[in-house]
Formats: sequence, C-alpha cells, structure tokens
Amino acid sequence: MDMKTKADFIIERVQKQNPSANVEKIRSAYECAAAAHEGQKRKNGDPYIIHPLSVAEIIVEMGLDTDSICAGLLHDCIEDTSFGYDEIAQKFGTTVADLVDGVTRLGQIRYSKEQEQMEDLRKMLIAMAKDIRVILIKLADRLHNMRTIQFMSEAKQRSKSLETMEIYAPIAHRLGMQRIKWELEDLSLKHLDPIGYQEIVDGLARQSSEHEKFLERIKQTISKKLNESGIHNTISARVKHIYSIYRKMYSQNKNMSEIYDICAVRVIVESVADCYNVLGYVHDLYKPIPGRFKDYISTPKPNGYRSLHTTVIGRAGIPFEVQIRTEEMHKMAEYGVAAHWKYKEGVTNKGDEDTYAWIRQLLEAQQDTEAEDFIKAIKVDLFSDEVFVFTPKGDVVNLPAGATPIDFAYGIHSAVGNRMTGCKINGRIAPIDYNLQNGDIVEIITSKETHGPKRDWLKMIKTSEARNKIKQWFKKECREENIVRGKEDLERELKANLLYSHFMEKEEIQQNVLRKFNYNSLEELYASLGYGGITITKVLNKVRDEVIRARKAESAKQPLTGDKNPKSDSGVIVEGIGNCLVKFARCCTPIPGDDIVGYITRGYGVSVHRRDCVNFKNSSEEDQDRWIDVRWDESNIEAKERFSTALQISTTDRVGVMSDVLMILSNNRINVRDFNGKTLSEGFAIINAVVDVTGIPQLEMLISKLRSVKGVINVTRQSN
Ligand code: MN
Repeated sequence: MDMKTKADFIIERVQKQNPSANVEKIRSAYECAAAAHEGQKRKNGDPYIIHPLSVAEIIVEMGLDTDSICAGLLHDCIEDTSFGYDEIAQKFGTTVADLVDGVTRLGQIRYSKEQEQMEDLRKMLIAMAKDIRVILIKLADRLHNMRTIQFMSEAKQRSKSLETMEIYAPIAHRLGMQRIKWELEDLSLKHLDPIGYQEIVDGLARQSSEHEKFLERIKQTISKKLNESGIHNTISARVKHIYSIYRKMYSQNKNMSEIYDICAVRVIVESVADCYNVLGYVHDLYKPIPGRFKDYISTPKPNGYRSLHTTVIGRAGIPFEVQIRTEEMHKMAEYGVAAHWKYKEGVTNKGDEDTYAWIRQLLEAQQDTEAEDFIKAIKVDLFSDEVFVFTPKGDVVNLPAGATPIDFAYGIHSAVGNRMTGCKINGRIAPIDYNLQNGDIVEIITSKETHGPKRDWLKMIKTSEARNKIKQWFKKECREENIVRGKEDLERELKANLLYSHFMEKEEIQQNVLRKFNYNSLEELYASLGYGGITITKVLNKVRDEVIRARKAESAKQPLTGDKNPKSDSGVIVEGIGNCLVKFARCCTPIPGDDIVGYITRGYGVSVHRRDCVNFKNSSEEDQDRWIDVRWDESNIEAKERFSTALQISTTDRVGVMSDVLMILSNNRINVRDFNGKTLSEGFAIINAVVDVTGIPQLEMLISKLRSVKGVINVTRQSN
C-alpha cells in the first residue's frame, strides 16, 4: 500500500470510529509530516513517513482524539526535521505542538541500567509528560519501533527490548492498556530471550490444532447454553500471549505441558447482572478449580481492570480460564485510560483539572500499595510537589518541588556539595538557586579543594538532607570535638549491635572498613562520623558485612564431607563440596570445554578460573590451599545455557570493520554483552567484546568466522 493510500485508509477509519473528528486537520498533518520527512529513509530503506503513519494508526486504534492523531503524525518532526515547534503550533495549535514536544522530550531521556532506577524512571516519564496523551503517543511510537526492530543491530535490539520490558510495558500495564502491554512484552521477549521465545512459539504451533479444536468445542458448548437462557453474548477464544506463558514457565520452573490454562475463553455480555449469570452457567457446565475464581468487578484491579475470572476443567481434564465482562469493561481492559478519549472528542477542555479529573478518580480508587507510587507520580503533575531531574550520566534524582542545584549536589554526596562552585542546567551555566524543572540535566561544577558551603545557602535549599550537611560543615571546623563525638557514637552503636569486639580486635575487619571508605586512620573515621561526613549506619553495615564474610571464609576452610552424587545448578561440580555458590571469574571468563580450577573466595563461594589464567598461575604461596579441583558437569549443561566470555579482536582500522564483526555475531545469534573498539596508532584498532556462548565448540566456530572478516588480524580470548 503506498503512503497516500495508507493515510486515506487511516482517515476513513477515524471517520467511521468518530464522526466528529476533524479529518481535514488530520489530512493536513499528514501532508506536513510527509513533506518534512521527504527524502528520509528508515533503517530498512522504507520512506520515513511510514513510521509516523503507522504510529498514527495505532493511536487511532487506541481511539484517541484528533490532536493526538495529528501529534502522532508529526511526532518526529521537531527532532528530525526543520518543521519545528513554532511551525506546528502555528498550523495545528499549541496542544498538538505541546504533545509533539512532550514526545520528543521523552525520547531524549537516557536509560540507566540500575534496577532500582526503573520505578523512578517510569514515574519520571509520567511526570514529564504533563499530558497523559504524550505517554500514549510515546507507547504507540515504541510499539511500532518494536514491531520493526529487526532492522537494528543486535546490541540495539537488546537495549531497546530491555527498556521496553522494564519501562514501557509496565507503564502500559499501569494505564490498563493490556493489548499494547502484551504486544510490547512479546516483542521484547523475542529479542531478550530468542531461544526461550522460540521454544514457546514452537510448542504452541505443535499444539495449535489441538488447541483450536478444544477451544471451538468449549465455545459452542457455552454459547449454546447461554443462547438457550436468552443471554446475548459474544464468545472469543484464544491462546494466551507468549510472555505470560514464559513467565509462568520460568517462575514455576515448569515446562510447557505443565502450564495450566494456556487457553482462555472470553464471554462478553450486556450487563453486570449477566456477567454473574454467565459465571453460574459456566460453573454448571465445567468443574471450577477452587481458589481460581476472581471477582474484579466488585474489586477492580489497581489499573481499573474489571472482569470475572474463573478457571475450570474441560472434558479432557484440561483446565482453561474463562473471563466474563461487559463490552465497556472489555474496552477498558484493552485500551485502558485511552478508552476514555473515545467519548471525549469535541468536548472542549476547561483546563487541566478537568482533563485529569477522571484519571485521578481512577487512580485514587486504587487501593493497591504497588500502585501507590504511581498515583503519587501522576499527582506530581497534578499537584506538583516533586521534581525529577537527571545526573549527567542519566540517573534519575527525585527532589521536592522548588529544589535547587544545591539540594541536588548534597543529594549526591556531601563532598560534592562542599566543593560546589556553580552548576550547569542542560549544558548551560545557571545560578545555584535555580528552581529545578522536570527533566533537567543537572551538572555540578566543583573545585578541587573543599571550600565549603556559604551561610546563605541555607536559605536556598528545600531538602533536609542538604540542610543537615551544610550545618555539619560548619560544625566540622572543630575537629577534636568531632573525633570525641564520632568515637562515642560508633562505640555505642557497635556495642548495641554486638559488633564491638569484632571491630576493635580484628585487625583485618577494621582495615577493610577503613579502606572501603578511604580513611587512613581510625581517627579520621571518628572525625568524619562526628561532623556527619559518613553515617553510622553505613559503617555498621560494612562492619557487619565484613564479619559475615570472615565467618564464611572460615567455614569454607573447614573440611567438607564429600557428596557421592554432586549436583550443580551452575554447570560446575566442585570436588568434595555439593551444591555451593559458584561464579565464573571475570579475568578469564571460562566456558564449558575449558580446563578449569576453583578458588574458594573470602565469603562469596567458589570462583571458577581457567587453568591457564594468570591469577591461578601467579597465585601466592599463602593462597595455595584455596585452589581446589572443579570440573564441568556435562550432564547438567543444557544446550540453551550460555556462558559469557571476553574476546579481543585486533584489526586494521578499516571503516566498517566494527559493523562487519557485529554482523557476524548477530548472524550467529550470539548475544553481545559488551562491545567497544579503540583505535591504536599506525592504523590499527582493538575491539573488546563480551559474548555469550554455549561452550568451546561454538566459540571456536565463532573465532574462525571472525578471523575471516576483512581487516581482522587476530582474535584471541582475553585474559589478563
Ligand atoms: Mn518515532
């Protein structure tokens, strides 16, 4: 279908769905976008406009309003074309321009891999959006990008998939948009665990005719019964989506045939009363599994989802799930908050409070604690009591509204605050009492010497953290006092936590603690505690860790009784020890087939090295008795298991050699964990790659393929 036809097709659909939509405006937005992207191509060679068109199509499917559809068509204009904010505002109004601007800003957020950041990042996206439609358009954008992700490099596929799985799918879930959530999850899974994904696809394909017959029979039985009873109904039957099967398989450690209710039947009726009637009939026809009935009509899910669920047993003893709901509940389940726009077109908004009233109602009705943070995040926008900003590395920092760069600096570390001389906001020098805005990238300028805060900073800050740290600075001048106070505090807390003698009498523990926090002496630690440079809790936690570690090391040294049938979860058998914590050393990254040896670490189980690893060969005299024999557990290494190993590839500095190497890796479905290259002098370059392989045979195959790449001089396994 050419672009023009596709645009017509979308417009026709809008018209059918919503007669009051402004199709002239949509057509004009399409024409502007097509002109702006003229000549640009997507990765697969298609004209670029196919992307905004497809995004608009998804937005139409969600049922959003004219402005959202226009914004979908124009969503990449500000970033990639000369058709900017002002042009869009002039032609389509500030609402459309703000929506496009919002989507653009979300796209600029850098993604940090820290797990604990995910929730903050999700909240931040919502908070930044200002208008929930921005999020919905962004979800449509991401969905189409995920649908066409096969044209990206494997590394990009992986990072986008991870981001989608951890940020966008959960947001879709919170907003109740099941249909999009499922598709995002399945598409992500396909790239995050291609083998696991394929296993399920194949499994489902094998059983598909069985499933179809099974579901068809159930559909007929139920609809016959309902028709006899005069209940209008629509019944659909389906196999559940792949990621939900995947999650069950892995969380319950089951194989596919052991997963209950892969099949689901949905009955849509006209009234709530009918829902409960249908439930009765279904339980007459089939035996319900106790404990599996859920009434999400009387108690909706936190995201607003309403439906009755029950799992029953079919004739062949195969369980299946039945969902019963009304048409309205169904729309809400599929499209979540987007469903609300279906009725909103043509109604002029009287202001933000009106626009958000229903979202607030929806969210405030939620009583789930998991949802609480999310509600709070939406409220950030509605009541503005929090602000989310970024470090230059892309980590999210959450501060109270009105916070300044000084709060930010002390939030990172008191040393950063105490050395602060100025700041940059989004790359520009700004006053230190600037009011931080959502999405700002904040960079603190520091001097080498600690010169400390100014008294008047106390008036410029919002957080108690900054207040305390600044006050502490002024106290710090009196070092002697601080040492006394710090010593008292620490000793008291150590005694209270039964750690006193460990810390005071065991040299090794004390030294490790001091080293960890960069203190040269006990006195320095006391002084720091005294003025608040470090918290007691931090020190106590470290002491506790050290004590535990020392204990473990001691017990690891004791002779262990041999297990005749050693088992391993890790694929490695440690001689004389049964199932113990095993990890693979990063220095030499052993993989199955390598000659290996184990090292009893101080408290972290056994670390497996290659026998040719320098750390083994050069290990010190006193460490000799820590080395033990280990071997691969051939019976327990499954073909799908992968092991990381590091490669060093030396090449001539030819343009394109990196991408050729990546191509080989991706063609061989090798997962790449890390990949970077650096140019050496005289026209040579080194590529360091960490890849996941099943073992030596695969690695050897891979190395020989890499050696055949033009420009590659040598490929070796990395070892320090
Ligand atoms: Mn886009």
